[in-house]
Amino acid sequence: VSAWVVEKLYESWRQTFLATKTFFEARTDHQHLVIFENPQFGRVMVLDDVIQVTTGDEFVYHEMLTHVPMLAHGNATEVLVVGGGDGGILREVLKHKQVTKAVLVEIDQGVVDMSIEHMPSVSAGAYDDKRVEVVIQDGVEYMAEDGQKFDLIIIDSTDPAGPGEVLFTESFYKNCAKRLKPGGIFTCQNGVPFMQGDELTDTQHRRKPHFKDAAFYVAAVPTYVGGFMALGWATQDPSYRKLGADVIRKRYDANPFPTRYWTPDLHVASFALPRYVQELMEK
Ligand code: SAM
Repeated sequence: VSAWVVEKLYESWRQTFLATKTFFEARTDHQHLVIFENPQFGRVMVLDDVIQVTTGDEFVYHEMLTHVPMLAHGNATEVLVVGGGDGGILREVLKHKQVTKAVLVEIDQGVVDMSIEHMPSVSAGAYDDKRVEVVIQDGVEYMAEDGQKFDLIIIDSTDPAGPGEVLFTESFYKNCAKRLKPGGIFTCQNGVPFMQGDELTDTQHRRKPHFKDAAFYVAAVPTYVGGFMALGWATQDPSYRKLGADVIRKRYDANPFPTRYWTPDLHVASFALPRYVQELMEK
């Protein structure tokens, strides 16, 4: 039987999906997890009443959070993903042949297991890749340890409510800066600024003391409704953000891989921000 599933993210505005079949619904150790089928978006994963991934549009988010820093860096070999239990970021990271190690730190084993079982196209075998190491732990604890450093740190978190809240604190950003190798880049999901403006302003203030270059870039993800989504960008090297499409294209052509959203031109264009987003950064 079909049912309407309502996303409860905002006080006064809600997105609704027709669920034609429910594959899984349970409380994991950390969150309420539901996976259902929608005729338009395919399999949809919901955590604590908030849409996380759909098999129909996940490519936008996963490609942009991964390939922009990968291509800007040019030679990232060791990558850390925090959150991202669905495996979509890992799948995109592994498209880069020079990557020798990808560590995923996810708080909720249930998300990993249910994604592999019910949304296998998202991880697409990433969890079987020898380069991947999975750590089931709170990302905040992991980052506070004096451990290995990475070329790239990608935060694929839930929104700043529930278990994901700690991934938006200043002390977390400070520890991320410490766990980057020289020339390393940090990216994170930062919500939809038209709807979650404070989140963008707060992130900017909390990162700024710890990175020479703290910025955002944007992507249009259909199920993160409300206009562009903001992706956070932070590094000690401001030159990465100024690389032209010719440089990015040359790097890509030397080692091409399939994409559906990311292109060298779009890579460069995604750093151009609407004025209302610039204003939120400066608030
Ligand atoms: N791409 C989607 C999005 O942007 O919403 C999916 C995000 S992914 C499913 C978010 C993951 O972050 C979840 O699997 C959740 O369990 C994990 N997570 C939340 N808080 C965490 C924490 N403190 N440490 C590690 N992982 C965390």
